[in-house]
Amino acid sequence: MYNVKSRVATEFIDDAEILETLEYAEKNKRNKALINSLLEKASKCKGLNHREAAVLLDCDLPEENEKMYKLAMEIKQKIYGNRIVLFAPLYLSNYCVNGCVYCPYHHNNHHIRRKKLTQEEIVREVTALQDMGHKRLALETGEDPVNNPIEYVLESIKTIYSIKHKNGAIRRVNVNIAATTVENYRKLKEAGIGTYVLFQETYNKANYEKLHPVGPKHDYAYHTEAMDRAMEGGIDDVGLGVLFGLNMYRYDFVGLLMHAEHLEATFGVGPHTISVPRICPADDIDPKSFKNAISDDIFAKIVAVIRIAVPYTGMIISTRESPKSRERALSLGVSQISGASSTSVGGYAEKESPEENTAQFERSDTRTLDEVINWLLKLGYIPSFCTACYREGRTGDRFMSLAKTGKIQYCCHPNALMTLKEYLEDYATPETKALGDEVIKRELMTIPNEKIREIARRHIEDIAVSGKRDFRF
Ligand code: SF4
Ligand code: SF4
Repeated sequence: MYNVKSRVATEFIDDAEILETLEYAEKNKRNKALINSLLEKASKCKGLNHREAAVLLDCDLPEENEKMYKLAMEIKQKIYGNRIVLFAPLYLSNYCVNGCVYCPYHHNNHHIRRKKLTQEEIVREVTALQDMGHKRLALETGEDPVNNPIEYVLESIKTIYSIKHKNGAIRRVNVNIAATTVENYRKLKEAGIGTYVLFQETYNKANYEKLHPVGPKHDYAYHTEAMDRAMEGGIDDVGLGVLFGLNMYRYDFVGLLMHAEHLEATFGVGPHTISVPRICPADDIDPKSFKNAISDDIFAKIVAVIRIAVPYTGMIISTRESPKSRERALSLGVSQISGASSTSVGGYAEKESPEENTAQFERSDTRTLDEVINWLLKLGYIPSFCTACYREGRTGDRFMSLAKTGKIQYCCHPNALMTLKEYLEDYATPETKALGDEVIKRELMTIPNEKIREIARRHIEDIAVSGKRDFRF
């Protein structure tokens, strides 16, 4: 029985409720009056529930779909402006005891090289990342209580925060590790993590169990209830996501929104971020064997409707997507992207030969960070390395109230300009620097509050002239 506030996975992600929602959406996908009233409601940036969003996702009226894309762009602009936050994944270890059939780290893959970084190797990786200009990382490990215990993750976080190379610093470490206990989540919180990210992969229980035939991840309830335990452990910024293509996308889309509604109803804080990965090729994995793979158009529609339905959440795409697909997703709602990622263990400090490949997936976007920054600037975006919120204690409901009212942009905008200036001074090529300096000059003028504008202008000057770093609002 569906109960949004239940703490039982199969009740807040109730299969019957999803199936009824899909039926309702199918029936109403050409209901012009309803669709237009939903678009009108969504234009107030208050979001939509899963039933309403499912109707928009299914809608096949060309004119209404155009309005939908336009609205997604407007909401994105209203809440996030033209800023795009950059991050990089850091793979610590690919040892894994699970059997996820879509991931090359599954324990039965005997031809992938297994590797776990030592603390010295982490120093080398993080130094390489700092030398590129990154300030925000997403830690990734396989699940393996012997090789990757929580103590290893905690020690690695401490190491990462301690490294200061030239003007470099990692200022926010987000963590993507397997579902764990309240006690371990509390330890992660104490270690100073930013967001805890865990992809559900698919919300369809029967399919989930088939895709995860062995290992602790097989337990659907333990995995689906992980965010509740994370919240209990004091982590109030959590990131959701499904791997589109594993199951019927409409089912997972509805499950994803129901999960967001559950967190909001139970803890008063919805997901800090939603990621939208799609299945892609990797060692031992052929995406063609997943018959639910989604097209570029459906992918774009999913991005647009999530943006409309959950306007306050950050949306993330990785280098799984090609530059072309990323460009489209950016305009429709994505606010964070990874850049110049290595999806291998130890891949930043040393290039791997194909035989030594430890990558989790193949990247479609292989550009350098400078090329990505240059591209964003040319598209009219402000690349941002901002990590200010959790360092200023703006997490959980404090963050949400600012995000929901749109007031967060009074911090995001100047922070984006100041962190971009740091990047331009320390890491950019001359062409990117010239381009970025122009954008900063232009964008400074658009800060509405005179006092904030003046402080930001002074800090930007300080970054260039006196070499000071890490200013933030
Ligand atoms: Fe292990 Fe995660 Fe890959 Fe599953 S998806 S095999 S848990 S690394
Ligand atoms: Fe993100 Fe906060 Fe920085 Fe805005 S001010 S970009 S929400 S960390």
